[in-house]
Amino acid sequence: MRIAIYSNLNAASNRVATSLREKIEQSDTLTIDGLNPEIVISVGGDGTLLSAFHHYQDIIEKVRLVGIHTGHLGFYTDWRDYEVQELIDSLENDDGQSVVYPLLDIKVNYADHSPSDFGLALNESTLKQISGLMVADVFIKEQLFESFRGDGLCISTPSGSTAYNKSVGGAIINPTLSAIQMAEISSINNRVFRTLGSPLIISPDEWIKIIPNTNARTILTCDHQVISTKVISSVEYRISKRKVKFAQYRHTQFWKRVTNSFIGEVDSGD
Ligand code: NAP
Ligand code: MN
Repeated sequence: MRIAIYSNLNAASNRVATSLREKIEQSDTLTIDGLNPEIVISVGGDGTLLSAFHHYQDIIEKVRLVGIHTGHLGFYTDWRDYEVQELIDSLENDDGQSVVYPLLDIKVNYADHSPSDFGLALNESTLKQISGLMVADVFIKEQLFESFRGDGLCISTPSGSTAYNKSVGGAIINPTLSAIQMAEISSINNRVFRTLGSPLIISPDEWIKIIPNTNARTILTCDHQVISTKVISSVEYRISKRKVKFAQYRHTQFWKRVTNSFIGEVDSGD
């Protein structure tokens, strides 16, 4: 089986990556292949896993991701740095198991009619104005839904619902659901301006289109990256037809992962 190691540069991750590489080189069934891997092992935290995802984005449907955690939160990462040998054993006994998570398609159209850009997010995309209040019309399908006024909007995947979305009051969504969520970032609500004021979730046959106020300079992000600061005429968000796969040797159940990351030890009170 062909394996790529994608590591961040900190010392702990380097140690884990070196040990992984040595064990893979000694294995009869595993080989290192950074160009055309079947498994991508990310070594670091969620940020590293997001970078690994984008590095292999063009072949994302042919690979399965595995995350090893070397500090930080590591919401996506199931393995700890001291479990390298266990992971190698699982890889050697691999029978193709995976869990599949939905992704977010982003299409950006520019005011100057330059070619549209496309993005694929594992966590979310946010749209904010560079300075001042963002004013934007929000459409669901082709129907005008609301006129938004506030700092910005965050459109997230189910597995990204525990990231930025959670900070702005969005719901946590189990990634077995094919859905995307829109959450507001500091909307203005008063007698004059009105938005929904709560997060909303759309289904696979729907899409969200945001049309910012004419000539506004906005920042459009896709996961940890800024993908545009040009004047945009519209952004369209859909649940992607592409999906991301995680190898399932040790795939912590989603709600358990949420408790581990955000609540810690739960005392049942008995
Ligand atoms: P970062 O500044 O290290 O990320 C912020 C935190 O989010 C880190 O603790 C990161 O975990 C965690 N995280 C990332 N994806 C997550 C997920 N799906 N569920 C739960 N926690 C998650 O930057 P980064 O590591 O490059 O991550 C980029 C992400 O940061 C963006 O996609 C966005 O979701 C998030 N972000 C959040 C805010 C906010 O909450 N106000 C603002 C900007 C960006 P690790 O420590 O393991 O990396
Ligand atoms: Mn990080």
